[in-house]
Amino acid sequence: MSTVTFEQIFNASPDVQASAPGRVNLLGEHTDYNDGFVLPTAIPQQTTVYLGSSPNPQHHIYSQELSEQVSLSANDPIPQGFSSYVIGCIRTLEKQGFSIPPLNVFVTSSVPIGSGLSSSAALEVAMLRALRSRFNLNIDDVQIAQFGQYAEQNFAQVQCGIMDQMASSLADSEHLLFLDTRTLDRELLPFPTGTKFLVIDSGIPRTLAGSGYNQRRAECEEAAKLLSVSALRDVEDVSAIASLPRPLKERARHVITENNRVLEARQGVSAERFGQLMNASHASLRDDYAVSIEGLDTLVALLQETPGIFGARLTGAGFGGACVALVDSNAQIKTAIADVLTRYQKAGYQGKILVDRA
Ligand code: ADP
Ligand code: MG
Repeated sequence: MSTVTFEQIFNASPDVQASAPGRVNLLGEHTDYNDGFVLPTAIPQQTTVYLGSSPNPQHHIYSQELSEQVSLSANDPIPQGFSSYVIGCIRTLEKQGFSIPPLNVFVTSSVPIGSGLSSSAALEVAMLRALRSRFNLNIDDVQIAQFGQYAEQNFAQVQCGIMDQMASSLADSEHLLFLDTRTLDRELLPFPTGTKFLVIDSGIPRTLAGSGYNQRRAECEEAAKLLSVSALRDVEDVSAIASLPRPLKERARHVITENNRVLEARQGVSAERFGQLMNASHASLRDDYAVSIEGLDTLVALLQETPGIFGARLTGAGFGGACVALVDSNAQIKTAIADVLTRYQKAGYQGKILVDRA
């Protein structure tokens, strides 16, 4: 990637800039499309969007990371690819009645792209924040998250839940964001005392993630229908699912137990207990939800047996991507983590530390 600036690409200075972070989810996986509970935090890495006026009737959108520029007039069909997230934000605001003139847009980011740390939501939230600031739009942080989700679903054609955009718009990296994805009730909570988090990329691309995700969504809808509830969030007691056929029973059991784990963690639990909840979450994602794969299980097992780590699990949709661990902030675990990565490599994989949050 060659580093360039807005000025070099557009021969002018930007009018505004705005940033938004990526996120990692500590607990509450595959619960957001079931109207359930999640517990993400923002990561230190951010996406920044710079905006200026376009000198002609087209929008011009440049990504530093992709070294790619897309130009588009107001009524052009939206091409697939990164510009759909950016144009999607503009078109979403236009649908809300705001009028947005042709723009030069420059995107740059330190959020790893496609690793499950939500570079897509960071891009949407940064873009919407930049538009809010440039045009003094009267929209709040929750609307920013909702418009970002609308843009991703309707213009980038990704059926995402609301967690990613809410985390990027409302979380910070010092706190956990407890979020009820049905009511959008939320609360910033402290991390368990004496802990920090670590995110490691499994090095395995999420090839099956799209189809697996859609299938799980459909299974959850089917299970909710059979249980006569509007979403699995409405089932609190696992004994209610006894009559469901396989694999709907297992899918529902994951969602119900995962929601209960988030609700327990929300009460404020010790680092040890939080770690146990993360380990139980991984086992549930592996055994009941069937979204883990061998490489993720290997990496998680290596992390879980490391002294100084309270718990670890896959994070994101699964089928590849990243793992998150809750770590004792006083423990010297640099060498132990290097050892985990060496042993992971011996098992045939290439892991990498993405976030080491002190
Ligand atoms: P994740 O959100 O987990 O990183 P996604 O597949 O949801 O993965 O989103 C990644 C997509 O978002 C990229 O393929 C690209 O289209 C877009 N994107 C995110 N960040 C950038 C960026 N800095 N420059 C261009 N496109 C980006
Ligand atoms: Mg995404």
